[in-house]
Amino acid sequence: MNRYLRNLNRIEFIITLACTGKCKHCSEGDHKRTGENINKDIAAEAVKYIAEKYNIRSVMTFGGEPLLYPETVCTIHSSAREMRIPQRQLITNGFFSKNPGRIQSVAEQIAECGVNDVLLSVDAFHQETIPLEYVSAFAKALKENGVPLRTHPAWLVSPDAENPYNKTTKEILSTFTAMGIETNEGNVIFPSGNARKYLSAYFDLSNEVKSPYWEDPEDVRAVCLGANGDLLNGNIYHSRIKDIFKSYFPRQQNEERSTDK
Ligand code: SF4
Repeated sequence: MNRYLRNLNRIEFIITLACTGKCKHCSEGDHKRTGENINKDIAAEAVKYIAEKYNIRSVMTFGGEPLLYPETVCTIHSSAREMRIPQRQLITNGFFSKNPGRIQSVAEQIAECGVNDVLLSVDAFHQETIPLEYVSAFAKALKENGVPLRTHPAWLVSPDAENPYNKTTKEILSTFTAMGIETNEGNVIFPSGNARKYLSAYFDLSNEVKSPYWEDPEDVRAVCLGANGDLLNGNIYHSRIKDIFKSYFPRQQNEERSTDK
């Protein structure tokens, strides 16, 4: 076993960087509506290979908007369930279609493939460009299909800070609370990408802030497969996953996962 990966316990998948939102707090910057997406069969094989070698406790799928490719999300989580990985998470903005039949069908697929923790990104920032009615319809469909679901807001400065964005976020969350959907702790916006560009007035940019997604390259706990197949120092489309794991070594610079969650 590669000693730098000895404590690995989590696999994350960026399904795609394409997104239906255009959030001003997005750490990724601007997204397109369509784009590259990870190959579902190769991703499912990666889950199997890694879970056979390491004590993986959770698998997470996110983006961009992962439900632009629900089959890929479901193939990965089916594989995770088959490998008895206990926590199977999906982070979504909940807006992938305006079609009620499609919304219902995707909720059913999510239920069937064994996702057991949906984190729904709703807040003042997402709802500037994402219509709440379709997100609510999806949340309702998930609930009806018995999928565990929580809202997952982005807070500006801190959850307790008083600013117009947090105020709107609390109003939005209350509509989900009324539906019986609880709020998790969410995350505090990190000044990178669009957040650095559009919300700089709220950050002290004179001091360097460590990303909450920073990973110690000498003791990797979570690996993240990019939509383009990037994994650790390699790429699953160009190298065997076995070789990527075997040859991994910490690079000079600390690696950051710069994705939005
Ligand atoms: S924050 Fe999430 S929903 Fe918004 S643009 Fe970025 S990836 Fe899309």
